Amino acid sequence: MIEAQGLVKAFGDNVVLKGIDLTVYTGEVVCIIGPSGSGKSTLLRSVNLLEEPTDGRVLIEGIDVTDPETDIDRVRQRIGMVFQSFNLFPHLSVLGNLTVAQRRVKKRGKEEAEQIAREMLERVGLAEKADAFPSHLSGGQQQRVAIARALCMNPDMMLFDEPTSALDPELVGEVLQVMRTLADEGMTMLVVTHEMGFAREVGSRLIFMDGGHILEQGDPREVLASPQHPRTQDFLSRVL
Ligand code: ADP
Ligand code: MG
Repeated sequence: MIEAQGLVKAFGDNVVLKGIDLTVYTGEVVCIIGPSGSGKSTLLRSVNLLEEPTDGRVLIEGIDVTDPETDIDRVRQRIGMVFQSFNLFPHLSVLGNLTVAQRRVKKRGKEEAEQIAREMLERVGLAEKADAFPSHLSGGQQQRVAIARALCMNPDMMLFDEPTSALDPELVGEVLQVMRTLADEGMTMLVVTHEMGFAREVGSRLIFMDGGHILEQGDPREVLASPQHPRTQDFLSRVL
């Protein structure tokens, strides 16, 4: 579903991704951990085409997105993205937030867009919040709205960049629960997270990144229980 081949991304002299090879198969939940500044967000943003690779290739469902012939907007529509900051429009109701891209990008009519929005709100347990404004919701609810908004676009895969890092601890669980349900339903997911419990229980694979490289990957239980690379050992000893 997602394939990076020798992916390099540099910002000026700063080479942030130093040749990433990564394949994510349909239905997999791949979790990425690693120190701050290791390139995790840049990798996700490169997969989502928010960053143009300096070298190497990114294929989404077999389509080379680095090929100038490729219609990037079409490919991007297949990928849902959820950020640490929820990025909801503050001046729009929840329903407004969930319908604006559907109408503009998917060209759906108002009724259809609202029906889909209500279905997705149901999926994240917020059916009763359709008319609320983001400022009246908790952080956990806002992030669930952001997930519902991504789902409204019928993505084939979802990218999550530290989706619970901005939340108060007591609100983390409700967001992880929604993500777990999505995973159980077979959604292909690439998740940058510090939630080792989620990675262990939900992840099909765990990747450790450091300094722009994938240093280690494998079954989450195995990587967490007996990391092989000294850098992984050091990182986990500090976060676990
Ligand atoms: P992580 O998500 O693992 O914390 P990032 O991918 O956000 O790491 O950042 C890795 C490095 O890339 C950092 O040194 C950061 O300063 C640099 N970087 C990220 N985005 C940009 C950008 N748009 N312009 C310049 N440098 C950037
Ligand atoms: Mg980051």
